[in-house]
Amino acid sequence: MERMMCLNGPEKIIQVPQLKKRPFIVHGFGTRYLKKEFLNTSPVYKKFNKFYLDQKHSNIIHCIDGKAHEELKGDGMITDMPDTLLVIKTADCLPVLLADTDSKVIGAVHCGWRGSGLRILQKALIVMKEKYSCQPSSLIAAMGPCICSKCYEVGEDVYHFFKEMNIPLCVFKKHTDRRKKYFLDLRKTNQLQLQEIGLGKNKILNVGKCTCSDEMFLSYRRDGKNNARMLSFIGLSF
Ligand SMILES: [Zn+2]
Repeated sequence: MERMMCLNGPEKIIQVPQLKKRPFIVHGFGTRYLKKEFLNTSPVYKKFNKFYLDQKHSNIIHCIDGKAHEELKGDGMITDMPDTLLVIKTADCLPVLLADTDSKVIGAVHCGWRGSGLRILQKALIVMKEKYSCQPSSLIAAMGPCICSKCYEVGEDVYHFFKEMNIPLCVFKKHTDRRKKYFLDLRKTNQLQLQEIGLGKNKILNVGKCTCSDEMFLSYRRDGKNNARMLSFIGLSF
């Protein structure tokens, strides 16, 4: 994990070195201090066409191959087009940035508990493989900040949903004091799903921060139901 120098106030973006070193990729996991305005005005990012989603906690993946006409409904985007910035909004959910560094294909996925239960990340990788001929050997997945397994209390409905979807239940820990409550490891379930589909452990990068316990991030659980979301993005530029 690498943090951007913060000469102008608090840090806005967290990056992973394995993506940063690729000259044709721009990426970042925004902290609470990264505003949409910055992506539109900064010399680095302003030339990119930005794509945002009307996120639905679904497993819908869009392949972006043109200009944005309207906000698409769904929770993942994939593209091989240069100058296209895929932007995911989160506050506790897990943002995942994908890149095939050989064939130069990228993706951005919003993984909440429902999307994770619907295996959205696996679906994204299948689309990358089938539509863009990506190979697991050249794929990198970078997981951004999300709510950690000590903070993420969920109800039985989530546990049962995962069970029904045949997802390994080792990602749950029973609450010791509260009946019918569990703690969910959102990061781990997505990590396991990536491994299941053929991504090596060394290809899965993790910034490992908890949005709920670190004030530099926005947290839906901690801050309540407002509309504030953090922005994570990836784009190609050649
Ligand atoms: Zn936490």
